[in-house]
Amino acid sequence: EAKARGRGQACVFKRSLGVETERRVNLLEEVRLGLRRDEFDVYYQPIIDLRTSEVRGFEALVRWQHPTRGLLTPAAFSAALEDHALSAKIGAFVLDRSLGQLRQWTNQSIPVLCVNVNISRSQLQSGDELSRQVVALLKKYDLSPDRLKLEILESAFLGDRADAVADVLRQLRQFGVISALDDFGTGYASLTHLKTFDVGRIKIDRSFISGLEEQQSNRVITQAIIDLGANLGMRVVAEGVETLEQLKVLVAGNCDCGQGYLFSRPMPGGEVPGFLARWRHYGHRMLLNAGSGM
Ligand code: C2E
Ligand code: MG
Ligand code: MG
Ligand code: MG
Repeated sequence: EAKARGRGQACVFKRSLGVETERRVNLLEEVRLGLRRDEFDVYYQPIIDLRTSEVRGFEALVRWQHPTRGLLTPAAFSAALEDHALSAKIGAFVLDRSLGQLRQWTNQSIPVLCVNVNISRSQLQSGDELSRQVVALLKKYDLSPDRLKLEILESAFLGDRADAVADVLRQLRQFGVISALDDFGTGYASLTHLKTFDVGRIKIDRSFISGLEEQQSNRVITQAIIDLGANLGMRVVAEGVETLEQLKVLVAGNCDCGQGYLFSRPMPGGEVPGFLARWRHYGHRMLLNAGSGM
């Protein structure tokens, strides 16, 4: 009986694997179509200097305005961001759109210093294709290299293309484009990566920031990352700041920058000028309330 059941389970397993594969293939096809139909968009979330309350820049976050499912975040199409060909297409779209937006803001004298663009593992592993693209787009929109930052997950450093990735980051850094290590502290969190790869920024993962008020362990880890960054001459950004209490801990701990719903949710490009105008009024006060000695 056990044997029969075992066979049955294997059968169910095989069938569900088929369904999964089919769903994935359909999703990829739909994303391809969505790109062609111009359904993709970029939202922007501010990165705040915790010492001066200035907006340091905006992180560009891809969105899919799906015809029937509504506005989708990357979680709904992560398979596409992991697919080699599609992530190259989405990546090129996001770089072009966000740098074009930055050019437009600059023309309109809207004070946005830079955009942070997330780069997928396969984009990074595609040799110097990425650096060629970045150089060409900065030229196209007449922007200096310090107007763009790249955000990279540690997982991009793993595998047999690690040397190629290190080369690309070094090339870009020499050209003037700084990279940030995203979601730091999760995944592999190897401190060697900070040394081996040319990253000038660290973003502390949201999981450490949520619960910063109650959890002693998160507080200790967050402070250790802040101090590590300071001692290595890297700017540290805390991700996912949602409460004034969390902000207070970060300000007291001397963290450079913060990002999160407390300041603003990611917004369409068209809402950025209005946000900046409002922030000029309440940003300073929020940081003072959090104990910043501005
Ligand atoms: P990430 O780069 O770590 O981006 C931060 C994520 O946290 C964003 O989710 C943002 O909306 C969310 N977030 C920001 N503040 C808060 C907060 O206070 N509370 C909470 N709960 N969440 C907050 P999003 O936009 O859904 O993006 C998820 C991930 O997808 C990103 O994580 C990034 O790894 C990836 N991603 C986004 N855009 C792109 C892209 O253009 N290309 C690539 N390759 N990956 C992207
Ligand atoms: Mg990011
Ligand atoms: Mg992150
Ligand atoms: Mg993340």
